[in-house]
Amino acid sequence: MSYLAKNYNRKKLSFVRGKGSFLYTKNGGKYLDFVQGIAVNSLGHAHPQLVKAINQQSKKLWHVSNAFVIPEGEELAKKLVEKTFADYIMFQNSGAEATEAAIKVARRYFFSTGKPNKNRIICIKNSFHGRTIAAIHASGSKKMTEGFGPKVAGFDHFNFGDHKKLKKLITKKTAAIMVETIMGEGGIKKIPDWCLRGLRKLCDNKRILLILDEVQCGIGRTGDFFAFESSKVKPDIVPIAKGIGGGFPIGAVLMNKKVASGMTAGTHGSTFGGNPLAMKVGIAALDIISKKSFLNKVKSNSKYFHIHLLKIKEKFPNIIKEVRGQGFLIGLQLYKDQTKFIKQLMDNKLLTIKAAENVVRILPPLNVKKTEIDKAVKIIKMVCSKYN
Ligand SMILES: *Cc1c(COP(=O)(O)O)cnc(C)c1O
Repeated sequence: MSYLAKNYNRKKLSFVRGKGSFLYTKNGGKYLDFVQGIAVNSLGHAHPQLVKAINQQSKKLWHVSNAFVIPEGEELAKKLVEKTFADYIMFQNSGAEATEAAIKVARRYFFSTGKPNKNRIICIKNSFHGRTIAAIHASGSKKMTEGFGPKVAGFDHFNFGDHKKLKKLITKKTAAIMVETIMGEGGIKKIPDWCLRGLRKLCDNKRILLILDEVQCGIGRTGDFFAFESSKVKPDIVPIAKGIGGGFPIGAVLMNKKVASGMTAGTHGSTFGGNPLAMKVGIAALDIISKKSFLNKVKSNSKYFHIHLLKIKEKFPNIIKEVRGQGFLIGLQLYKDQTKFIKQLMDNKLLTIKAAENVVRILPPLNVKKTEIDKAVKIIKMVCSKYN
């Protein structure tokens, strides 16, 4: 008997310990974990530097109110500003909070410049920005919003790639366009670089803001610190979460100076956001992930993985339709049943997770070893060859 609400359809599998790319069950089962808490454990399980950071800080100070200066938060914010487009940071605890705070920053900016009616946000239909009331309505997904009315006003939607509709949606009331640089839950669909540049131009021409949700695709996942970097585009606001805490719940909103001007004292807050314990773990994770040499290795190792996955696709053209994604944000779109395929991978000790459009999502830790990639390739190949 489980006393947890039934809002998850959980696999009958649990773990007692993790180390790097592997998870262990009570009975000694060993699984190659290419889910990593859905792109959360960016450095795998129990990374020594993160363990050290949390141990040391846990003996000093866990939590103080944001009513006081928190030096650990100042330090992580400074590092993020130095490494990115951002001028200011606001810490939260999760991705949904970060995307909602991003919406608040955009609306507040126009409010503070005398345009309170400029508050509508344009999003991609069936995108994913989290599960809070506003975030589900931002996603425009019937499945996520059903039964959770009344509808939260202020969001307009266009289908992925429908540029005509997007342009038509922009009115005097539009404050921002908010999209995932690479749709994660939506099936690992990347907005091409030329498209991102077009989006930026469109936003500039219409004097609206560009919000890029990098909660899943950011923090080194693609081999760049942010997925949008290859396009050379500078967004105004970027919510992050998942990978930045390496497994500890941290969310944040990164913003430029212009939009930060609206966020005056009292306009937003979070009890837990940015506490010393979280910040120390975040600093330890960021120090590793943001190194150029680390990111280059993500690029070369993920390229190696993609090459092998493309070879499998060639060998099994009736099973794999498309290899999607960038870096270690990978999707295998199948012709066959996704759920069954994932189960067979799991039976062979490789953990993956589904995404929309019949995609098997593969999210190794960013520091995965080449030998572990080889092992995964072998299992995927075997499941393809035996699939019936
Ligand atoms: C996971 C995710 C969120 C929500 O994050 P939570 O921490 O689950 O609230 C928001 N946006 C994107 C792109 C995500 O992948």
